Amino acid sequence: MCNKSSIKRRKTIRINVGKIPIGDNAPISIQSMTNTKTIDINTTISQIKLLEKAGVDIVRISVPTMDAADAFKKIKKNVDTPLVADVHFDYRIALKVIENGADCLRINPGNIGNKLRIRQIVDCATYYNIPIRIGVNAGSLEKDIQKKYKKNTSEAIVESVIKNIDLLNKFNFTKIKVSAKASDVFLSVNSYRILSKKIEQPLHLGITEAGSVRIGSIKSAIGIGMLLSEGIGDTFRVSLAANPIEEVKVAINILKSLRIRSRGINFIACPTCSRQEFDVVGTVNELEKRLEDIVVPMDVSIIGCVVNGLGEAKNSTIGVVGIKTKSSFYIDGIRQKERFDNNNIIENLEKKIRYKIGSLK
Ligand code: SF4
Repeated sequence: MCNKSSIKRRKTIRINVGKIPIGDNAPISIQSMTNTKTIDINTTISQIKLLEKAGVDIVRISVPTMDAADAFKKIKKNVDTPLVADVHFDYRIALKVIENGADCLRINPGNIGNKLRIRQIVDCATYYNIPIRIGVNAGSLEKDIQKKYKKNTSEAIVESVIKNIDLLNKFNFTKIKVSAKASDVFLSVNSYRILSKKIEQPLHLGITEAGSVRIGSIKSAIGIGMLLSEGIGDTFRVSLAANPIEEVKVAINILKSLRIRSRGINFIACPTCSRQEFDVVGTVNELEKRLEDIVVPMDVSIIGCVVNGLGEAKNSTIGVVGIKTKSSFYIDGIRQKERFDNNNIIENLEKKIRYKIGSLK
């Protein structure tokens, strides 16, 4: 019952970050970033494994020092997910981490320094056959562009991106993806919209420094959601001031809401009111936790009464409709003879969902 999206994607060139293709209609990939100390190798590996379990496709790691570049090598050997090395200021760290196995390099050429240093990075990336993400942020535009535009505008961001693409192209480097992030939703969205018409490189979307889980998820869902719904964007990160696992969960839910990708249970639940016949909120929250391991896509509706319950249940793989003392439930839109005791809905639903998933395998 999970309908697929009919969004027409913008055409781009294709690059690969390790085993993950990006652009040219490849599935939209989810990225996140570790927030451990990179030199704390074991803790970083553990966090990457948790991100893998949550459904991340690509993980970015900050590499601020040569020690971190050395740690990167050991981390890389212990994880399956492609790793992007995030390097600022020091081109020597960039060279080192490419040699140490980075699947992609993220730089902001504006803070790397002179063209010779950028050339060295580009030659190294060419030799190791990895792509580079030109990551432009509204907060760190090149000085000449800041001077020209006086304040952060989409035009300034776009000029910085295009200038850096041109520079890398001049060095015969084409494996490029691009981000143009700002903490302001409209500034970001507008920049990506302009870029989508001007360049052929895949776009890495994001609303940077979006904030805590609540506000950051809202900003990201609006900004990234607007762009994805217009067919713009090939990979993205939800940036939250939170455990990065939350970033992946929110990202998956953005893709689910747009019917771009299905993974795990899509819960449909009513907001509840005095008509509810069982504890809908408690049931949804508990089942979300219990069923986190499920990757098979499935719509499950949990509705407190018959007002909206029947319609939702008929359109879900599994649905429960609140009725006094014993609620009715549906499988594939068909009402079942068996009823659920309202005090036992969580256990019963979990069993039925897991059984249904077993039968689909
Ligand atoms: Fe209230 Fe029923 Fe609507 Fe849920 S479905 S919000 S319980 S009227």
